[in-house]
Amino acid sequence: MALRFYNTLTQRIEDFTPQQGNVVRMYTCGPTVWNYAHIGNLRTFTFVDILRRWLRCRGYQLDHVMNITDVDDRIIQQAMAAGKSLSEYTDVYTRAFLEDAETLRLERPEHLVKATEHIQDMAEAIKRLSEKGYTYESDGSIYFRIANFPEYGKLSHTDFSGIRAGARVDTDRYDKENARDFALWKAPKEGEPSWQTVIGPGRPGWHIECSVMAMKYLGETLDIHGGGIDLTFPHHENEIAQSEALTGKPFARYWLHSEHLIVEGQTMSKSLGNFFTLRDLLERGHAPEAVRYLLASVPYRKKLNFTMDSLRSAETAIERLRNFKLRLDTGSFPEGTSEALLERTRQANASFEEALDDDLNTAEALAAAFEFVRDANSAMDAGQFLAGNTAPALDFLARFDSVFDVLRPSRKDTGLSDSEIEKLIAERDRARKARQFARSDEIRSYLLERGVILEDTKEGTRWRRK
Ligand code: AMP
Ligand code: ZN
Repeated sequence: MALRFYNTLTQRIEDFTPQQGNVVRMYTCGPTVWNYAHIGNLRTFTFVDILRRWLRCRGYQLDHVMNITDVDDRIIQQAMAAGKSLSEYTDVYTRAFLEDAETLRLERPEHLVKATEHIQDMAEAIKRLSEKGYTYESDGSIYFRIANFPEYGKLSHTDFSGIRAGARVDTDRYDKENARDFALWKAPKEGEPSWQTVIGPGRPGWHIECSVMAMKYLGETLDIHGGGIDLTFPHHENEIAQSEALTGKPFARYWLHSEHLIVEGQTMSKSLGNFFTLRDLLERGHAPEAVRYLLASVPYRKKLNFTMDSLRSAETAIERLRNFKLRLDTGSFPEGTSEALLERTRQANASFEEALDDDLNTAEALAAAFEFVRDANSAMDAGQFLAGNTAPALDFLARFDSVFDVLRPSRKDTGLSDSEIEKLIAERDRARKARQFARSDEIRSYLLERGVILEDTKEGTRWRRK
């Protein structure tokens, strides 16, 4: 079956095809750099990464824009409180975000664009909206008149027709109950940053940032627009209103939204003490690959309940995969090729692909991989896995890892050469044969502390770096 996604706009699963050739023009909302990204934010960005990687596996080329929101209400508040300029304040968190993204192996979009570098474009767009009669001014701020855009509400499937004309909202983040005409442009205020533009001094609202940057780089109609579920309203609804009012064309064809991450069944919050950044988890000794695995493992339209237990399970799951790969890399298997196992490998590949084609069902894709690992391991134990089955099995693992990207360890090893490791393993073998188990355990722990993992098998001791 074809690649298909759930489209929030139509509320249906739809086959996916780009507008032109095999290029996917995609915009996803990036971080607001007012603080470190939390693992909820990172879940959404991991979903985007899996989406990118699977589109590429399916032969598409990506033209993907992600913004960095480096001016908005929250940032201004925080920067002012810290006595810093906007850029002094946001540089720290922009850098931290890029580091976190790299640690989690999130691919860089083709264009990573900052709101503050597109202020004039935004002012121009607001000017055109005004010329078309979609705006009005009040106290130096400019508002979008939603009554003039009758389709307002089509993404969040809400009827806003009863809203009182002229009622306004100044904050960018508000809920459906507070739906009003929203600010495109905010009047300058004492102590706040502002820009001189064709529409006068001030600063943009959050929503216009994304409309303008998306269309600047990708054209008037995007193939995919994505973000976390909370952005559906008002942010994406407002993006549609602004963009479609400007162009008269559909703004995006497929709208993909990922569900939230919660922690131990509860909304994450600092006051509940269940709020984590990636850095918090790494400090507790968790590997970035385990965090990546966990964030990717739950299909994106389901809530992800993050628990320390599930993080440990992710670690165990990665271990299993790595041990299997080690076995494939180092095991010696009887000559020949088992047709049955070749067929089993093809079937694993097909199930893996069908799962991801099915609206990125990562849980099913992982299940396909683990069932294959289990069957191949049993075949190895029974002496039925033959040398000719190694390359197809490794190919399957490589395809798996081009999406999940968890096999390569990210911890640096601590400086033991291969021959030093092998000497220690030989010494440990001698100790074990002489029943000096205290010594053999000591060597195992010594190696483990240096990131070397031993596995005793019928064919002898195998080792690998963590
Ligand atoms: P922000 O930096 O607040 O603009 O958010 C960045 C992204 O994280 C947006 O796509 C949000 O929808 C998303 N997001 C915020 N909270 C969560 C959460 N608890 N779980 C998953 N995604 C979230
Ligand atoms: Zn956005």
